[in-house]
Amino acid sequence: MMTSSADADHGAHPILTASHITKKFGELVAVNDLSFTVERGQIFGIAGPNGAGKSTVYNLITGFYPFEGRIDFDGRDITGLQPHRICQLGIARTFQIPQTFPSLTVEKSLSVGNRFGAPGRFDPAYVDEIIRFLDMQAIRRQPTGQLNLLGKKKLMMGAALATRPKILMLDEPMAGSNTSEIKDLMAFIRRINEDMGVTIIIIEHFMKVLTELTETLLIIETGSEICCGDPVTVTSDPRVIESYLGDAYADGN
Ligand code: ADP
Ligand code: MG
Repeated sequence: MMTSSADADHGAHPILTASHITKKFGELVAVNDLSFTVERGQIFGIAGPNGAGKSTVYNLITGFYPFEGRIDFDGRDITGLQPHRICQLGIARTFQIPQTFPSLTVEKSLSVGNRFGAPGRFDPAYVDEIIRFLDMQAIRRQPTGQLNLLGKKKLMMGAALATRPKILMLDEPMAGSNTSEIKDLMAFIRRINEDMGVTIIIIEHFMKVLTELTETLLIIETGSEICCGDPVTVTSDPRVIESYLGDAYADGN
């Protein structure tokens, strides 16, 4: 069978498919028979109330816990693989609370990420590229503990990028940020997607951020899908307004 390269560049091409994934913690069903597909190159959003199971979905994708169901990434079944293997295949994530090594310099922190992504193939030129991408040339030898919150967040994303991911998964990257920091982070996330060609999954509480950034939005509640589709359709879905947006808008988000 012949496939032209033009075909390969057009239309939808899944990079990640979760099929009927379920995670129970004892009696609690944190993720309940959830299925979704992330297309290559897109920004895919996940939202839902606190405790909906969003971060647990990330923990399943990155291999932190065993689970029921199956996850395919970039043409292979990654179900049950160890976290470092999944990272090396090209999935990186950040955490809700910025985690940096405070005594390590910016450059060393990014080098740790690069070594983790490809053991034995440390690439200082790529680390330099990330430092330029972060616009941190002037502070490359500063300990990361001296960075402000925005700097720590960008560094954490930079360390994830240093592993050379195909997908970067962000967990509430805007948390604790003010309006101008949110603008800055949104532009930064777009650059990661467009300039570095990295597919992005973003969990976010701020619905405006999701409607502006994402092409597909998945809303979950108590581990199950409420709705999934383009953000305009999803945010006008009565079930979403009732279960989630009502509260979020009431909070002033
Ligand atoms: P979200 O990120 O949407 O706020 P989480 O995925 O963190 O929600 O949590 C979903 C549910 O699973 C919550 O009820 C939470 O308390 C529970 N949970 C998450 N991780 C664990 C764990 N390691 N052990 C037990 N319960 C957990
Ligand atoms: Mg969470």
